Amino acid sequence: MGLEERARNGTGWDAIDVADEPQVHAGAEWRSELYRIACAQFQRTADVLDLEPEFRARLLEPRRSLTVNFPVRMDDDSVRNFTGYRVQHTLTMGPTKGGFRYAPGVSLGECAALAMWMTWKCALLGLPYGGAKGGVRCDPHELSVGELERITRRYAAELIPIIGPDRDIPAPDMGTGEREMAWFMDTYSQQVGHTVPEIVTGKPPVLGGTEARRPATGLGVVYAIEGALERLRWSIRDQRVAIQGFGNVGATAAEELHAIGAKIVAVSDVRGGITNPDGLDVRAVLAYKAENEYVEGFPGAEPVGRAAVLEVPCDILIPAALERQITAENASRLACRLIVEAANGPTTPEAEDILAERGIPIVPDVLANAGGVTVSYFEWVQDQQKYLWDVIEIQERLRRQMRTALTRVGDAAERQGVTWRTAALALAIERVAEAAKLRAIYP
Ligand code: NAD
Repeated sequence: MGLEERARNGTGWDAIDVADEPQVHAGAEWRSELYRIACAQFQRTADVLDLEPEFRARLLEPRRSLTVNFPVRMDDDSVRNFTGYRVQHTLTMGPTKGGFRYAPGVSLGECAALAMWMTWKCALLGLPYGGAKGGVRCDPHELSVGELERITRRYAAELIPIIGPDRDIPAPDMGTGEREMAWFMDTYSQQVGHTVPEIVTGKPPVLGGTEARRPATGLGVVYAIEGALERLRWSIRDQRVAIQGFGNVGATAAEELHAIGAKIVAVSDVRGGITNPDGLDVRAVLAYKAENEYVEGFPGAEPVGRAAVLEVPCDILIPAALERQITAENASRLACRLIVEAANGPTTPEAEDILAERGIPIVPDVLANAGGVTVSYFEWVQDQQKYLWDVIEIQERLRRQMRTALTRVGDAAERQGVTWRTAALALAIERVAEAAKLRAIYP
């Protein structure tokens, strides 16, 4: 059975007959549906840029990756083995930067795709980093706090050979947050013998984190929407917004958009969603979720499925949950006028073609959700300088950087007659290719 067939069938490695695989195809180790999407986006952009073959090869595949398997003692005294990854996409731009996630679907190929997008995001925002991503395959909802702490500490210890405040700086992602960053930072600090706050970003403020980091991605999404609406000549007032994912990013975006006059007509989480065409009272939904954990059952709204939320009639659709939600299967049924990708990789290339035909523009993930890594960069700079900035300064700088990036992308898209995604990726890839050219090849 060939690798592609196996990938399609989801056949496990236990079923492999080695004699059946005389040759391993280039890039086979990264194979995943998400990596296929990242590669397709890269190739489309490389064609527009007429990128030389040398740089296509050098910029496409990750430079370095680590897979770790480690034992953790569970609360019932049993021992379970966990698999974790860290992928560093490019080492050309400075240290690498990117979150780590806890989710059942974490794989090397998924981390490779997410690391590549981190490279483009940092390059687009002019941050001095290459991209990285990591994670542990687990379901955080099934684990106790003690188990999560032991997993995080062991994962941090396993990563020590390849991370460091000037080498690779992790941050939160799906299923991880300030608490995990505190454990991670403490473990690293214990190993090197002194406190190193700048080893991770997204820490609690008392440990050298920055007040504005938690809402940064959601706020960045809102700044990107403001910029996009200005270009489209739409006013934010009374725009109907539907959001899939009501976690850190989705809930912050909902709250902020509601505060500036938009109407949030639907939100959802992993359990399901709620919709009200007259607009939801976002504060009340947040309070309900704080008490009940999920939005399901919120009074004064109709229930809607966690996938069906994408098809609720609205002006702006914000996928803010996970990847591959907008596909060739549902793209023709979306009832929105604009998509703003708060999640990473929520739209497949096939869906994007259908949406382009329907005239629905997309503010791409590498631009829309770049607020998180931008404020992570501010946190890292403050930790390095041992000098704290105030929240207003951070938010103003974030807004300025997001709006500048949006203008550059919008102008480039108009100039070249391409989508916002291709324009954003082209600006980013050109920057990294230029750096790679100047640094040349060692030895
Ligand atoms: P989170 O864990 O805080 O929230 C995720 C939300 O999605 C939750 O409401 C969860 O219930 C919901 N969800 C999970 N599985 C779902 C499913 N199958 N269907 C529908 N909803 C589902 O995570 P977050 O930090 O808000 O991240 C959300 C997305 O934004 C991810 O794609 C992440 O990679 C991306 N992102 C996050 C940051 C950040 O700073 N947190 C930065 C950039 C990008």
